[in-house]
Amino acid sequence: MLLDSFGRPVRDLRISVTDRCNFRCTYCMPYDEYEWVDRSEILTFEEIARLARLFMRLGVDKIRLTGGEPLLRRDLEVLVARLSALEGLKDLCLTTNGSLLAEKIPALAAAGLRRINVSIDSLDPETYQRITRRNDLVKVLEGLFAAQKHGIAPIKINTVIVRGLNDGEILNLVQFSRTHGFGVRFIEFMDAGNANQWKSEKMVSAREILEIVQACGPLRELGREQGSAPSVQYQFADGSGDIGIIASVTEPFCSSCNRVRLTADGKLVTCLFSAQGHDLKRMLRAGAGDEEIDALLRSVWQGRGDRYSVERLQAMQSAGGYEAAGRKKIEMISLGG
Ligand code: SF4
Repeated sequence: MLLDSFGRPVRDLRISVTDRCNFRCTYCMPYDEYEWVDRSEILTFEEIARLARLFMRLGVDKIRLTGGEPLLRRDLEVLVARLSALEGLKDLCLTTNGSLLAEKIPALAAAGLRRINVSIDSLDPETYQRITRRNDLVKVLEGLFAAQKHGIAPIKINTVIVRGLNDGEILNLVQFSRTHGFGVRFIEFMDAGNANQWKSEKMVSAREILEIVQACGPLRELGREQGSAPSVQYQFADGSGDIGIIASVTEPFCSSCNRVRLTADGKLVTCLFSAQGHDLKRMLRAGAGDEEIDALLRSVWQGRGDRYSVERLQAMQSAGGYEAAGRKKIEMISLGG
C-alpha cells in the first residue's frame, strides 16, 4: 500500500471542475473581481477521467466533485457518467451551493450520482444573503428537495459556523435536517485561503456547537465514518438525526488525513492549506505516458508531510500565538473544500 511520510494512505480524491462560483461567500471567496483561470487551462473531462484512473491505482476509492461551484461546469453529467463507471470506485459525491441543483439533478442522478453535500449557512433569508451575497435560498431549498425526490441519499447540509454571523442558526438547521431526513455537518470556521479574514475569535468550537445541539435532546457519539472522515458523527438518543461536527481547528485530524486534491487547472495538492501544487496538466499536455504520471503521483504522495491543522493548533497554544496571514495558501475557490 502506498503511504506518505506519516504512514497515511491516499483514498479520497477531491476534483475541482471549475474555479468559477456564482456566490461570494464571506468565508470563502468574497472578492467581486478575481484572476479566474483561463478556460483553455481547465482540465477536460478526458484529462480528469484519466487522472482519476491513475489515482485509483494508488489506492483512491472515493471521489468528490467540487469547485468553485461544480454545477457551473457545462455537461457535468458527462463527467459523472465517466467517473461512476470506473471499476473499483466505491463512492462518488458532489459538493454544491445548490443554486442550480433543481435543474441539474435529473441528469446527474441518471448519470450515476448517488449522494451530495449542499452548503447552506443559514435558513434565515437575510443572514443567508449576508453570508453568500446572493438571494438564492429559495432556489437552494428547492434543489435540496428535488435531489431527495430523485433518490439521492444521503443528502448532507454543510454549514460553516462563524461567531456573530450564523451561530444563532445551529438549532434551526438541526431541526430542519432532522424533520426532512437530511444530514447536517457543522464546520469550524478555518483560515482556508487568504481572503476570509480569519481570526480565532470568530471561530465557534466543536465543543460549543455540541453544547448548543444538545439543547434539542441528548446525543450519542458514533465516531468517524471509516475511522478517517473529517466529521465526528452524532445522533439523538432516540436514533433520529444525522449530525456531524468537523473540528479542523480545535481537534485536528491530520493523522488520518487520506485526502488529495486536483485543481481545475490540473495541480495536484496534498493539503487544503498548501501554498502550491504539482502541475499535472503540463505533463498531460506534453504527452506523458501513464507510467510517467504514475511515478510522479507516487513520489509526491510518498514525500507528503502535511499536518497544517496540527501545527496551527500548536501555534495557537504557544506564547507567540498564530497569525493566519503569516502563510500564503491557495484560495479555497481553486481547491474545493
Ligand atoms: S490540514 Fe491538511 S493534512 Fe491536516 S487534515 Fe487538513 S488537509 Fe489533511
